[in-house]
Amino acid sequence: MTYLNRNLGTKQTPQSEKIPGSTQIPNSAGGFTWKVDDWKRLDHFLILGSEDGSYYANERELTKDNISSVMRCIEVDGQRVVNQVIEISEAGRAPKNDQALFVLAACTASKDIKVRMSALEALPRVARIGTHLMHFISYAEQFRGWGKGLRHAVGDWYNNKPSDKLAFQVVKYQQRDKWSNADLLRLSHPKARTEDHNKIYKWVVDGELLDGVEDLIVGFAKAQATTDEKELIGLITKYKLTREMIPTQFHDKLDVWEAILPNLGLTAIIRNLGNMSKCGFLLDGKWTATNDVCNRITDAAELKRSRVHPFAILTALYTYQSGHGLRSKGEWPVSNAVIDALDKAFYLSFGNVTPTNKRLMLALDVSGSMEGSIVGGVPGLSARVASAAMAMVTFKTDQNTMITAFCNTMIPISQIGHLSRLSEVVKSITGLPFGGTDCSLPMGYALTNKLEIDAFIVYTDSETWSGQIHPTQMLNKYRSETGIPAKLIVVGMVSNGFSIADPNDSGMMDVVGFDTAAPEVMSNFIRE
Ligand code: CA
Repeated sequence: MTYLNRNLGTKQTPQSEKIPGSTQIPNSAGGFTWKVDDWKRLDHFLILGSEDGSYYANERELTKDNISSVMRCIEVDGQRVVNQVIEISEAGRAPKNDQALFVLAACTASKDIKVRMSALEALPRVARIGTHLMHFISYAEQFRGWGKGLRHAVGDWYNNKPSDKLAFQVVKYQQRDKWSNADLLRLSHPKARTEDHNKIYKWVVDGELLDGVEDLIVGFAKAQATTDEKELIGLITKYKLTREMIPTQFHDKLDVWEAILPNLGLTAIIRNLGNMSKCGFLLDGKWTATNDVCNRITDAAELKRSRVHPFAILTALYTYQSGHGLRSKGEWPVSNAVIDALDKAFYLSFGNVTPTNKRLMLALDVSGSMEGSIVGGVPGLSARVASAAMAMVTFKTDQNTMITAFCNTMIPISQIGHLSRLSEVVKSITGLPFGGTDCSLPMGYALTNKLEIDAFIVYTDSETWSGQIHPTQMLNKYRSETGIPAKLIVVGMVSNGFSIADPNDSGMMDVVGFDTAAPEVMSNFIRE
């Protein structure tokens, strides 16, 4: 042995060192990984966001880092950014629309007038409800002033809606982020397209209730004035009022819930399950209401139409099954029927996923950093719990699929099977121990045990550091020793710009965790 025999070639390198000749960069954990390019990072940011930061970076640092990538993309090809924002937002691929609105706002300040115009034109497609519009305005103000272009776009947002739809928007979403419809109408000052629009603007800006104004506004005004529950219930049914439109003192009345349920969208239902159980409206044994709610939640067509994201369902499940509010006060009896319905809805909300008919290993990084990264600002809902839920979609689709977990050693999770309920998966992952990180372990485990695997799918933040061999090197070792040309998919659970996938190896791919399109994209990649 000479000094040149100590793992200096390209086949085995400790994760704390760069693979010689590669383009690897240091990650935040003291290991080396690849950097995802700015366009991929844009997708990561649009879908995952950076709320609450990560285990390694605080919210502000991580967000600034993501925005730097976004700004470089806008500089290179702003139109492509606008298109990507529209695609992800309209398809409902992201748990939250905020990043899409923010990036669109940045595009409205591009140096290129064509990009600015195109971004403003896309406003009604990305800002589909009043809340979105008000968020967008508060973001746009961080990039630009109130020029003619922005005033026109906002004016058109109101004016181009049919009057009944406009009435719904201004009644349901009155103010957010210190902005109100009255402020926005005063600033944008649209010339009313029809007399009906004019009457709505008069009501919003001056509070004047003119004869012939849209019915919903009349109903809303009457609901605000009444103190009688029976009268209110009549108004709810007649004018199709929603929860935001009735005085809060009626919010917990059983008969009010019954009347209002048909008027509620799926998102509102899913968010209010705890409230409905708290007041005794939703309860195992009260089958009429419980079945109504469960049938709505599991209606595949309505899930798609309402763009209900699987993450919103996971959040609802996580909160509801705990039996108490995570942020608000109050406890409720948990309905098992609701738990089942949410379980079913979670899988439905991903749409169709084609089975690969290949042999798959799903590997969950359950290390400390995955536990320490909160997803979507939900207390307790960590990247490791979220990735387990995500993995269940692929796990249930394919027959020859195994699920494993690792940190700096393999962690047994034998209690998760193809029939496991999501609520059980969440519980068993929450209870696992955690430690350092070695993302080469799944491939090493497969090699040691002579497992037949066509594709490894690793759910991770790519903050790997503790292994004596890089994950890609271990994969290549597995490929050459077994003769199976195994693929590697990295499901990125944190938008930190790192990936263990080698961008120069066509058998490896990055996807974004909690992208509703990801399971089918993964299936295509594995099958091709
Ligand atoms: Ca880690």
